[in-house]
Amino acid sequence: MIARTVKDAVSVEGIGLHSGQISKILIHPSDTLDINFYSKGVVIPANVDYVCNTLLSTDLCKDGVVIKTVEHIMAVFHLLGIKGVTVELIEGFEIPIGDGSGAEFYDILKDNLVDTGEEIEVLDISRYMRVGEEDFYIEAHPSTFTEVIYKGFVNYIDCGTEYTYRWGNPEEIIYARTFCYLEDVENLLKNGYGKGGSPENVLIIDKEGVYNKEGLRYKEEPLRHKIFDLLGDLYLSGMHIRGKIVSHRGGHTLNVHFVREIMKELTAAKIQ
Ligand code: ZN
Repeated sequence: MIARTVKDAVSVEGIGLHSGQISKILIHPSDTLDINFYSKGVVIPANVDYVCNTLLSTDLCKDGVVIKTVEHIMAVFHLLGIKGVTVELIEGFEIPIGDGSGAEFYDILKDNLVDTGEEIEVLDISRYMRVGEEDFYIEAHPSTFTEVIYKGFVNYIDCGTEYTYRWGNPEEIIYARTFCYLEDVENLLKNGYGKGGSPENVLIIDKEGVYNKEGLRYKEEPLRHKIFDLLGDLYLSGMHIRGKIVSHRGGHTLNVHFVREIMKELTAAKIQ
């Protein structure tokens, strides 16, 4: 996969899902193939070593500077093969949520890319791996292509219990929105989460089904979003991970745990 970068800097502005504050970001091409975030004079590599929170979002921190909710922009970078960019936070400290999916980043980036001439590093899963516990786990198997499977269930709606994304068409997952249960909203807000959330940017599910007037974008929208999130977190390895990856009810914590295990193996393999 050839790495691509942005032709021209693009800016995106919007509310942060958890902070409720307006953020403005600028995505610039950079001189190297790395992906970095930049805020308040601090460069934070888009790397699992800088993950400091995985509860309800994946956040990066360095030297007291926090970038919240990086998973969706990272998923779009991954799906579009983007490398060599710096995401500068001009205002706010959270990546804008858009409509809760990758749509805004995808639409703005997909026709504004240029090949770098360099390949994205691919890490092949070389043996069976598993992280997690009995009911919540991620497994990985060697494979000649990338396939990501999410298994889980969502209350109150019929969206299936399994979805498989075979690496190829990003539009299978890119428009799937983040979701929550209406019954959890009060508690989330009380605990300082979801302050920017609304039916404009979250798929809300209640006992009657889908709360949003427009309904589901895909039958398995929540499961597809889980895969989208996972691909964002996987890209914090700095590589494309090739193999069959199965998440059983996983979320950001497990995703990041999995990436850390893979990186550990890679380091051990390099030392041998
Ligand atoms: Zn998400």
